This record gives sequence, C-alpha cells and structure tokens, in this order.
Amino acid sequence: MSNSINPVSQIRKPDSGYVGRFAPSPTGPLHFGSVIAAVASYIDARANQGRWLVRMEDLDPPREPPGAAANILRQLTQLGLQWDGEVLYQSQRLEYYALALQELIDNDLCFRCDCSRSKIKSSGSIYDGACRHRPSEPEQGYAVRIKTEDTLIEFQDLVQGVHRQNLGTEVGDFVILRKDKLFAYQLAVVVDDEYQGITHVVRGFDLLDSTPRQVYLQQLLNYSTPRYGHIPVIVNASGDKLSKQSFAPSVDVENSSHLIYQCLILLGQAPPANLLNSDPHTQLRWGIAHWDVQAVPKLAKLPQELSK
Ligand code: GLU
Repeated sequence: MSNSINPVSQIRKPDSGYVGRFAPSPTGPLHFGSVIAAVASYIDARANQGRWLVRMEDLDPPREPPGAAANILRQLTQLGLQWDGEVLYQSQRLEYYALALQELIDNDLCFRCDCSRSKIKSSGSIYDGACRHRPSEPEQGYAVRIKTEDTLIEFQDLVQGVHRQNLGTEVGDFVILRKDKLFAYQLAVVVDDEYQGITHVVRGFDLLDSTPRQVYLQQLLNYSTPRYGHIPVIVNASGDKLSKQSFAPSVDVENSSHLIYQCLILLGQAPPANLLNSDPHTQLRWGIAHWDVQAVPKLAKLPQELSK
C-alpha cells in the first residue's frame, strides 16, 4: 500500500490539524450508501489538507463474514480512496474499551440492567430507568447503561445545521456494554475517535441521532468533541436505506468510474459532464478542488436514482 502511487498526495499541501475517518462495520461488501459516506469524508478531509483514516468497526463477530474487512479495503483502494497510516481494527482494542468502561463505573456514571427488550418496549420507547433505582444490581445476564440526565446536547452540524437532543427525555439511559458482553458501538466509537485524534466526522444521517450520546460520553470521559457533518442517507426506490438488510448490492468497483461521479452529484457538487468518463482519481481530484460542503443537501434521505 505504502509504495502505491497516490495521485492525491501530489496535490496535498502540508497537513492541517484536520483528521477525518471512515469507519465501516465489516458486515458485508460496500454498497452505494457506504461508498458515498466514504467519498464525502475523504473529500472533506483532503479539501481541508487533512489526514483520512480508516477504522474497521469489527466488534460483532457473528455479523461479520470472513474476508469482509479485506474486501472493503480492496474496494476502497480500487475507488482511489487511499487512507493514511495503518487501518485500526476495533477487535484489537477491547482492553481500551474495558478501561473506559471501568472509568465510567468508578465514577458512578452507569449501572447494570437485566431488563428484557419486551419489558422495555412495554414501558414505552424510552428506558424508564427501572434498574437504576433497584436496591441491588443483577449479578449476571446484564447490560451496562449510562445514566442520562435532563441534559440538552446541542451542536452545529457541518451539513445539517444546529442539532439538539435532550438525552434524558428523548433517549434515556443507553447501553454501553451489551448483555452478550460485546462493547456497544457508542462506547467504542468515542474511545477510538479520541485515540485517533479525530477532529471531523463526516458520515450518514442515520447516525445523527447517535451523536448526542457520543458527545455526552466524550464529556463524561473528558475527551474532545470532533466536528460532525451528516450527509443524506441513500435510499432505494421503496424509500429504504441501502443496507445489507434492504439487500443493497455490493458496488462494482471494477466498473467504478460512474460511482464517484454519482456521489459528487448526490452530494450537491456540480461536476462537468465530461468528468463522467474520467478515472476515479481524476474525479476525486476534481471533487477535492471544487468541494463545497454547504452545497450538500440538508436532507435526511436521497434516492440513488436522482443522479440518473
Ligand atoms: N460503523 C458504523 C457503520 O458502519 C459507522 C460508525 C461511524 O461512522 O461513526 O454504520
């Protein structure tokens, strides 16, 4: 990887303080919805003379087919999305999540909970704090939840503008260690964004709702909070998010020239028609040189068909 020619590096000015990242969960190959998130975070990083890291969020082995992570890296390379440094694998970071969890426990910021899904559902969509108030904690078969307060978390999203959420009333005490003893995404993501010095997170709108939880954890753990930008999620003709669950096809990177072009159009940029036939590196270079984050649609969803 290190001796491959990276055309983008030739046009890079010295690194700014910007560090961005793409953090796929290797549950299958990249589909168009994940490619556009990768392209947006890559271009935003390079347009700001930043570094762009890749982190494999491989924390849920039963959901990860063998070879999926390697396949994603191959797809990124074929799309011209060359990352900096080594790929970080969350499966190798468990001791650090355990340390953060211990810190939260020591500071009395979380509690054990053995409520079943159906019990939580029957008491409304927001966890009612039942286990937080019981006299003794369950010994086994428990998840660990963070205590939330009536706290308004507010931030200025780079794409969507001001976003506010009251964690206590809109989310409730949330899980950081699952009942099956896997670390929850919310905990691992903040530990690693801090560890990797991430300053900018550009990702899909579906994660906007998770961001206040992450900001809250950063505050509890004394971490810094990156800038966030949430791009529209790409949906299929029936309005479902492209995902493994909606049977979104893997992108065909062998035939990749239209993919980057399609991403640029959907991201509100205005590539010239003759760029369609260029190779991905040239298209990315154009995207970096002309990037206007303000032009990205301030929408939750966008149909992939828009660009046809
Ligand atoms: N691993 C998450 C996913 O693939 C993304 C995490 C993030 O960007 O914060 O949905």
